[in-house]
Amino acid sequence: METKSIKAFGTTSPEADLSAMAINRRMVTPKDVEIEILYCGVCHSDLHFAKNDWGMTTYPVVPGHEIVGKVTGVGDGVNKYQVGDLVAVGCLVDSCRTCSNCKDDLEQYCPEWVATYGGPDKHLDTNTHGGYSESIVVDEDFVLKLPENIDLAGIAPVLCAGITTWSPLRHWKVGKDSKVAVVGLGGLGHMAIKLAAALGAHVTLFSRSTNKIEDAKALGAHEVVISTDESQMEQAMGKFDLIIDTVPYAHDLNPYVGTLATNGTLVVVGYLGPLDPMLVTVPMIMGRKAVAGSLIGGIAETQELLDFCGKHNIISDVEVISIQDINTAYERMLKSDVKYRFVIDMKSI
Ligand code: NAP
Ligand code: ZN
Ligand code: ZN
Repeated sequence: METKSIKAFGTTSPEADLSAMAINRRMVTPKDVEIEILYCGVCHSDLHFAKNDWGMTTYPVVPGHEIVGKVTGVGDGVNKYQVGDLVAVGCLVDSCRTCSNCKDDLEQYCPEWVATYGGPDKHLDTNTHGGYSESIVVDEDFVLKLPENIDLAGIAPVLCAGITTWSPLRHWKVGKDSKVAVVGLGGLGHMAIKLAAALGAHVTLFSRSTNKIEDAKALGAHEVVISTDESQMEQAMGKFDLIIDTVPYAHDLNPYVGTLATNGTLVVVGYLGPLDPMLVTVPMIMGRKAVAGSLIGGIAETQELLDFCGKHNIISDVEVISIQDINTAYERMLKSDVKYRFVIDMKSI
Protein backbone atom coordinates (compact mmCIF):
# COMPACT_ATOMS: atom_id res chain seq x y z
CA MET A 1 0.00 0.00 0.00
CA GLU A 2 1.21 3.50 -0.85
CA THR A 3 2.24 5.55 2.17
CA LYS A 4 3.78 8.88 3.03
CA SER A 5 6.21 9.71 5.79
CA ILE A 6 5.12 12.33 8.32
CA LYS A 7 6.41 13.87 11.55
CA ALA A 8 5.28 12.42 14.87
CA PHE A 9 6.23 12.27 18.56
CA GLY A 10 6.41 8.95 20.32
CA THR A 11 8.52 6.50 22.25
CA THR A 12 10.25 3.20 21.64
CA SER A 13 10.40 1.92 25.24
CA PRO A 14 8.72 2.43 28.63
CA GLU A 15 11.85 4.10 30.01
CA ALA A 16 12.49 6.53 27.15
CA ASP A 17 11.09 10.04 26.92
CA LEU A 18 8.84 10.84 23.99
CA SER A 19 10.80 12.33 21.08
CA ALA A 20 10.48 13.20 17.41
CA MET A 21 10.12 10.28 14.99
CA ALA A 22 8.85 9.63 11.48
CA ILE A 23 5.83 7.40 10.82
CA ASN A 24 3.96 6.34 7.69
CA ARG A 25 0.36 7.21 6.91
CA ARG A 26 -1.51 5.45 4.13
CA MET A 27 -2.52 7.48 1.07
CA VAL A 28 -6.31 7.96 1.11
CA THR A 29 -8.38 4.99 -0.05
CA PRO A 30 -11.90 5.64 -1.43
CA LYS A 31 -13.59 6.01 2.00
CA ASP A 32 -10.73 7.85 3.75
CA VAL A 33 -10.40 11.37 5.05
CA GLU A 34 -6.92 12.90 5.46
CA ILE A 35 -6.74 15.34 8.34
CA GLU A 36 -4.08 17.90 9.21
CA ILE A 37 -3.95 17.78 13.02
CA LEU A 38 -4.35 21.19 14.69
CA TYR A 39 -4.75 20.16 18.34
CA CYS A 40 -4.44 16.94 20.31
CA GLY A 41 -5.42 16.50 23.96
CA VAL A 42 -3.18 14.64 26.43
CA CYS A 43 -5.03 11.83 28.21
CA HIS A 44 -3.74 9.88 31.21
CA SER A 45 -4.22 6.79 28.99
CA ASP A 46 -1.48 8.17 26.69
CA LEU A 47 0.88 8.10 29.66
CA HIS A 48 -0.24 4.61 30.78
CA PHE A 49 0.29 3.33 27.24
CA ALA A 50 3.67 5.01 26.68
CA LYS A 51 4.90 3.57 30.01
CA ASN A 52 3.33 0.12 29.38
CA ASP A 53 1.37 0.34 32.67
CA TRP A 54 -1.22 -2.08 31.25
CA GLY A 55 1.39 -4.57 29.95
CA MET A 56 -0.08 -4.52 26.44
CA THR A 57 2.06 -1.93 24.66
CA THR A 58 4.08 -2.77 21.60
CA TYR A 59 6.55 -0.12 20.53
CA PRO A 60 6.95 2.34 18.91
CA VAL A 61 3.96 4.21 20.34
CA VAL A 62 2.59 7.50 19.06
CA PRO A 63 -0.18 8.40 21.54
CA GLY A 64 -3.05 10.86 21.17
CA HIS A 65 -6.80 10.26 20.77
CA GLU A 66 -8.33 13.69 21.29
CA ILE A 67 -7.76 14.96 17.77
CA VAL A 68 -9.06 18.12 16.12
CA GLY A 69 -8.01 19.07 12.61
CA LYS A 70 -8.77 20.23 9.11
CA VAL A 71 -9.58 17.98 6.16
CA THR A 72 -6.80 18.12 3.55
CA GLY A 73 -7.88 15.26 1.30
CA VAL A 74 -10.77 12.85 0.70
CA GLY A 75 -11.16 9.58 -1.20
CA ASP A 76 -13.49 9.24 -4.21
CA GLY A 77 -16.20 7.56 -2.16
CA VAL A 78 -16.33 10.06 0.72
CA ASN A 79 -19.57 11.99 0.95
CA LYS A 80 -19.72 13.33 4.49
CA TYR A 81 -16.66 15.59 4.41
CA GLN A 82 -14.80 17.90 2.07
CA VAL A 83 -11.42 19.57 1.99
CA GLY A 84 -11.34 22.48 4.46
CA ASP A 85 -13.88 21.04 6.94
CA LEU A 86 -12.96 21.19 10.63
CA VAL A 87 -13.34 17.69 12.06
CA ALA A 88 -12.42 15.48 14.99
CA VAL A 89 -11.22 11.94 15.68
CA GLY A 90 -11.54 10.25 19.06
CA CYS A 91 -10.41 6.96 20.55
CA LEU A 92 -11.39 4.56 17.77
CA VAL A 93 -10.76 4.53 14.03
CA ASP A 94 -12.43 1.29 12.89
CA SER A 95 -14.47 -1.76 13.97
CA CYS A 96 -15.97 -4.84 12.31
CA ARG A 97 -19.26 -3.00 11.56
CA THR A 98 -21.30 -6.22 11.53
CA CYS A 99 -21.40 -7.54 15.12
CA SER A 100 -24.29 -6.77 17.46
CA ASN A 101 -22.30 -4.07 19.27
CA CYS A 102 -21.46 -2.33 15.99
CA LYS A 103 -25.11 -2.52 14.94
CA ASP A 104 -26.13 -0.99 18.29
CA ASP A 105 -23.71 1.98 17.89
CA LEU A 106 -21.45 0.48 20.56
CA GLU A 107 -18.36 0.10 18.36
CA GLN A 108 -16.16 0.52 21.46
CA TYR A 109 -17.33 -2.94 22.61
CA CYS A 110 -16.76 -4.59 19.21
CA PRO A 111 -14.25 -7.43 19.63
CA GLU A 112 -12.42 -6.05 16.59
CA TRP A 113 -12.47 -2.33 17.37
CA VAL A 114 -9.33 -0.51 16.30
CA ALA A 115 -7.95 1.98 18.80
CA THR A 116 -6.62 5.25 17.39
CA TYR A 117 -3.17 4.28 18.65
CA GLY A 118 -1.61 0.99 19.62
CA GLY A 119 -4.17 -1.18 17.81
CA PRO A 120 -3.49 -3.42 14.83
CA ASP A 121 -3.71 -1.21 11.73
CA LYS A 122 -6.10 -2.78 9.19
CA HIS A 123 -4.20 -1.26 6.25
CA LEU A 124 -0.53 -1.23 7.22
CA ASP A 125 1.63 -3.88 8.79
CA THR A 126 2.10 -1.81 11.98
CA ASN A 127 0.15 -0.59 14.96
CA THR A 128 -2.07 2.43 14.57
CA HIS A 129 -0.46 5.75 15.46
CA GLY A 130 -2.31 8.56 17.18
CA GLY A 131 -2.61 12.31 17.24
CA TYR A 132 0.84 13.39 18.43
CA SER A 133 1.57 13.78 14.71
CA GLU A 134 1.17 16.08 11.73
CA SER A 135 -1.74 14.27 10.11
CA ILE A 136 -3.94 11.19 10.22
CA VAL A 137 -5.97 9.20 7.67
CA VAL A 138 -9.29 7.82 8.95
CA ASP A 139 -12.34 6.14 7.39
CA GLU A 140 -15.10 8.75 7.12
CA ASP A 141 -17.41 6.67 9.34
CA PHE A 142 -15.04 7.29 12.26
CA VAL A 143 -14.60 11.02 11.64
CA LEU A 144 -16.75 13.44 13.65
CA LYS A 145 -18.25 16.82 12.85
CA LEU A 146 -17.29 19.73 15.10
CA PRO A 147 -19.85 22.23 16.34
CA GLU A 148 -19.63 25.61 14.60
CA ASN A 149 -17.63 28.44 16.19
CA ILE A 150 -16.24 26.24 18.95
CA ASP A 151 -12.81 26.78 20.52
CA LEU A 152 -10.67 24.17 18.75
CA ALA A 153 -8.20 23.51 21.59
CA GLY A 154 -11.00 23.44 24.18
CA ILE A 155 -13.16 20.95 22.30
CA ALA A 156 -10.33 18.39 21.79
CA PRO A 157 -10.63 16.72 25.24
CA VAL A 158 -14.32 16.09 24.63
CA LEU A 159 -13.17 13.31 22.25
CA CYS A 160 -12.01 11.15 25.18
CA ALA A 161 -12.37 12.80 28.60
CA GLY A 162 -15.80 14.04 27.56
CA ILE A 163 -17.25 10.94 25.94
CA THR A 164 -15.88 8.59 28.62
CA THR A 165 -17.93 10.39 31.25
CA TRP A 166 -20.90 11.26 28.99
CA SER A 167 -21.52 7.63 28.05
CA PRO A 168 -22.22 6.46 31.65
CA LEU A 169 -24.21 9.64 32.39
CA ARG A 170 -26.45 8.77 29.44
CA HIS A 171 -26.54 5.01 30.02
CA TRP A 172 -27.63 5.48 33.65
CA LYS A 173 -30.12 8.16 32.51
CA VAL A 174 -28.84 11.08 34.53
CA GLY A 175 -31.19 14.04 34.57
CA LYS A 176 -32.39 16.81 36.81
CA ASP A 177 -33.40 14.62 39.75
CA SER A 178 -30.14 12.67 39.76
CA LYS A 179 -27.50 12.83 42.44
CA VAL A 180 -24.15 12.27 40.77
CA ALA A 181 -20.68 12.08 42.30
CA VAL A 182 -17.34 12.19 40.52
CA VAL A 183 -14.16 10.75 42.03
CA GLY A 184 -10.96 12.63 41.08
CA LEU A 185 -10.68 16.07 39.55
CA GLY A 186 -8.47 15.63 36.50
CA GLY A 187 -9.21 15.54 32.79
CA LEU A 188 -12.11 13.08 32.97
CA GLY A 189 -13.32 14.39 36.33
CA HIS A 190 -13.66 18.00 35.25
CA MET A 191 -15.60 17.02 32.12
CA ALA A 192 -17.83 14.74 34.22
CA ILE A 193 -18.70 17.67 36.50
CA LYS A 194 -19.47 20.01 33.59
CA LEU A 195 -21.58 17.44 31.74
CA ALA A 196 -23.52 16.15 34.75
CA ALA A 197 -24.27 19.75 35.80
CA ALA A 198 -25.41 20.58 32.25
CA LEU A 199 -27.81 17.62 32.41
CA GLY A 200 -29.29 19.20 35.52
CA ALA A 201 -27.93 16.75 38.13
CA HIS A 202 -26.85 17.62 41.64
CA VAL A 203 -23.07 17.08 41.44
CA THR A 204 -20.57 16.23 44.18
CA LEU A 205 -16.83 15.88 43.75
CA PHE A 206 -14.78 13.42 45.81
CA SER A 207 -11.18 14.63 45.82
CA ARG A 208 -7.99 14.07 47.79
CA SER A 209 -6.98 17.63 47.06
CA THR A 210 -8.19 20.41 49.39
CA ASN A 211 -6.86 23.00 46.94
CA LYS A 212 -9.36 22.07 44.22
CA ILE A 213 -12.58 22.95 46.09
CA GLU A 214 -13.12 26.36 44.50
CA ASP A 215 -12.27 25.12 41.03
CA ALA A 216 -14.73 22.25 41.38
CA LYS A 217 -17.51 24.66 42.31
CA ALA A 218 -16.63 26.94 39.39
CA LEU A 219 -16.84 23.90 37.09
CA GLY A 220 -20.38 23.19 38.31
CA ALA A 221 -20.03 20.97 41.41
CA HIS A 222 -22.54 21.75 44.15
CA GLU A 223 -20.53 20.02 46.86
CA VAL A 224 -17.01 18.74 47.45
CA VAL A 225 -16.14 15.86 49.79
CA ILE A 226 -12.49 15.45 50.75
CA SER A 227 -12.11 11.69 50.44
CA THR A 228 -9.33 11.44 53.04
CA ASP A 229 -11.56 13.05 55.71
CA GLU A 230 -13.47 10.26 57.46
CA SER A 231 -16.16 12.50 58.92
CA GLN A 232 -16.91 14.03 55.51
CA MET A 233 -17.10 10.52 54.01
CA GLU A 234 -19.43 9.46 56.82
CA GLN A 235 -21.78 12.33 56.03
CA ALA A 236 -21.91 11.29 52.36
CA MET A 237 -23.22 7.77 53.11
CA GLY A 238 -26.23 6.55 51.11
CA LYS A 239 -26.52 9.62 48.89
CA PHE A 240 -25.67 9.01 45.24
CA ASP A 241 -27.50 7.46 42.29
CA LEU A 242 -24.38 7.35 40.15
CA ILE A 243 -20.70 7.70 40.95
CA ILE A 244 -18.13 8.02 38.16
CA ASP A 245 -14.70 7.01 39.46
CA THR A 246 -11.85 8.43 37.34
CA VAL A 247 -8.88 7.59 39.61
CA PRO A 248 -6.11 6.07 37.46
CA TYR A 249 -4.53 3.73 40.03
CA ALA A 250 -5.67 0.91 42.36
CA HIS A 251 -7.59 2.33 45.29
CA ASP A 252 -10.23 1.26 47.81
CA LEU A 253 -13.71 1.33 46.24
CA ASN A 254 -15.50 0.23 49.42
CA PRO A 255 -15.90 3.70 50.96
CA TYR A 256 -17.53 4.92 47.73
CA VAL A 257 -19.95 1.98 47.55
CA GLY A 258 -21.14 3.08 50.98
CA THR A 259 -22.05 6.50 49.61
CA LEU A 260 -24.39 5.02 46.98
CA ALA A 261 -28.15 5.23 47.51
CA THR A 262 -30.30 2.10 47.13
CA ASN A 263 -30.09 0.95 43.48
CA GLY A 264 -27.07 3.23 42.96
CA THR A 265 -24.17 2.37 40.64
CA LEU A 266 -20.47 3.07 40.96
CA VAL A 267 -18.96 3.15 37.47
CA VAL A 268 -15.22 2.65 37.30
CA VAL A 269 -13.71 4.33 34.25
CA GLY A 270 -10.24 5.24 35.54
CA TYR A 271 -8.51 2.09 36.70
CA LEU A 272 -7.96 -1.10 34.70
CA GLY A 273 -6.85 -4.03 36.85
CA PRO A 274 -7.52 -6.10 39.96
CA LEU A 275 -9.01 -4.26 42.91
CA ASP A 276 -6.94 -3.88 46.04
CA PRO A 277 -8.38 -4.09 48.64
CA MET A 278 -11.13 -6.43 47.47
CA LEU A 279 -14.76 -5.38 47.23
CA VAL A 280 -16.91 -6.19 50.24
CA THR A 281 -20.28 -7.39 48.94
CA VAL A 282 -22.33 -6.65 52.05
CA PRO A 283 -23.26 -3.02 51.26
CA MET A 284 -23.98 -4.04 47.66
CA ILE A 285 -26.38 -6.78 48.73
CA MET A 286 -27.96 -4.68 51.47
CA GLY A 287 -28.85 -1.90 49.01
CA ARG A 288 -29.01 -3.51 45.56
CA LYS A 289 -25.95 -1.46 44.65
CA ALA A 290 -23.80 -2.16 41.59
CA VAL A 291 -20.18 -1.68 40.64
CA ALA A 292 -19.76 -1.37 36.88
CA GLY A 293 -17.26 -0.31 34.23
CA SER A 294 -17.54 1.71 31.04
CA LEU A 295 -15.30 2.28 28.01
CA ILE A 296 -15.23 5.57 26.03
CA GLY A 297 -18.33 5.79 23.77
CA GLY A 298 -19.48 4.89 20.26
CA ILE A 299 -19.33 7.16 17.23
CA ALA A 300 -22.99 8.21 17.29
CA GLU A 301 -22.83 8.95 21.02
CA THR A 302 -19.62 10.96 20.56
CA GLN A 303 -21.33 13.00 17.84
CA GLU A 304 -24.31 13.49 20.17
CA LEU A 305 -21.92 14.84 22.81
CA LEU A 306 -20.13 17.18 20.38
CA ASP A 307 -23.52 18.57 19.34
CA PHE A 308 -24.54 18.93 23.01
CA CYS A 309 -21.28 20.80 23.75
CA GLY A 310 -21.93 23.09 20.77
CA LYS A 311 -25.46 23.82 21.96
CA HIS A 312 -24.47 24.41 25.59
CA ASN A 313 -21.11 26.01 24.78
CA ILE A 314 -19.19 23.46 26.85
CA ILE A 315 -15.46 23.09 26.33
CA SER A 316 -12.66 21.71 28.43
CA ASP A 317 -10.42 23.90 30.64
CA VAL A 318 -7.09 23.50 28.90
CA GLU A 319 -3.41 24.35 29.16
CA VAL A 320 -2.11 24.57 25.60
CA ILE A 321 1.46 23.28 25.23
CA SER A 322 4.04 22.65 22.51
CA ILE A 323 4.80 19.04 21.61
CA GLN A 324 8.36 19.58 22.90
CA ASP A 325 6.87 20.00 26.42
CA ILE A 326 5.11 16.64 26.41
CA ASN A 327 7.50 14.88 28.83
CA THR A 328 7.12 17.68 31.39
CA ALA A 329 3.36 17.52 30.88
CA TYR A 330 3.41 13.78 31.72
CA GLU A 331 5.40 14.48 34.90
CA ARG A 332 2.92 17.17 35.90
CA MET A 333 -0.08 14.95 35.10
CA LEU A 334 1.34 12.27 37.44
CA LYS A 335 1.28 14.89 40.21
CA SER A 336 -2.31 15.94 39.29
CA ASP A 337 -0.82 19.35 38.43
CA VAL A 338 -2.91 20.36 35.42
CA LYS A 339 -5.97 22.56 35.09
CA TYR A 340 -7.51 20.40 33.76
CA ARG A 341 -6.26 19.03 30.44
CA PHE A 342 -3.08 19.58 28.47
CA VAL A 343 -3.72 20.12 24.77
CA ILE A 344 -0.88 20.12 22.26
CA ASP A 345 -0.81 22.87 19.65
CA MET A 346 0.34 20.68 16.79
CA LYS A 347 1.85 23.63 14.89
CA SER A 348 4.80 23.08 17.20
CA ILE A 349 5.72 19.77 15.56
P1 NAP B 1 -5.86 12.76 35.28
O1 NAP B 1 -6.14 14.01 34.51
O2 NAP B 1 -4.48 12.46 35.69
O3 NAP B 1 -6.86 12.77 36.56
C1 NAP B 1 -6.89 11.75 37.50
C2 NAP B 1 -7.35 12.31 38.86
O4 NAP B 1 -7.49 11.21 39.76
C3 NAP B 1 -6.36 13.24 39.50
O5 NAP B 1 -6.51 14.57 39.10
C4 NAP B 1 -6.66 13.06 40.98
O6 NAP B 1 -7.72 13.91 41.37
C5 NAP B 1 -7.20 11.65 41.08
N1 NAP B 1 -6.26 10.71 41.73
C6 NAP B 1 -6.54 9.98 42.81
N2 NAP B 1 -5.54 9.19 43.15
C7 NAP B 1 -4.55 9.42 42.28
C8 NAP B 1 -3.23 8.92 42.15
N3 NAP B 1 -2.72 7.99 42.95
N4 NAP B 1 -2.48 9.42 41.14
C9 NAP B 1 -2.97 10.35 40.29
N5 NAP B 1 -4.24 10.84 40.39
C10 NAP B 1 -5.02 10.39 41.38
O7 NAP B 1 -6.33 11.49 34.43
P2 NAP B 1 -7.48 11.37 33.30
O8 NAP B 1 -6.91 11.70 31.96
O9 NAP B 1 -8.68 12.04 33.79
O10 NAP B 1 -7.70 9.80 33.28
C11 NAP B 1 -8.15 9.10 34.42
C12 NAP B 1 -8.06 7.62 34.19
O11 NAP B 1 -9.08 7.24 33.27
C13 NAP B 1 -6.76 7.13 33.57
O12 NAP B 1 -6.36 5.93 34.19
C14 NAP B 1 -7.12 6.84 32.13
O13 NAP B 1 -6.31 5.86 31.55
C15 NAP B 1 -8.53 6.35 32.29
N6 NAP B 1 -9.37 6.47 31.09
C16 NAP B 1 -10.32 5.52 30.90
C17 NAP B 1 -11.17 5.60 29.82
C18 NAP B 1 -12.26 4.60 29.64
O14 NAP B 1 -12.78 4.51 28.53
N7 NAP B 1 -12.68 3.88 30.65
C19 NAP B 1 -11.04 6.65 28.91
C20 NAP B 1 -10.08 7.61 29.16
C21 NAP B 1 -9.24 7.53 30.26
P3 NAP B 1 -7.83 14.55 42.86
O15 NAP B 1 -6.59 15.39 43.02
O16 NAP B 1 -9.08 15.34 42.76
O17 NAP B 1 -7.92 13.43 43.84
ZN1 ZN C 1 -8.21 9.01 26.66
ZN1 ZN D 1 -18.19 -5.11 15.56
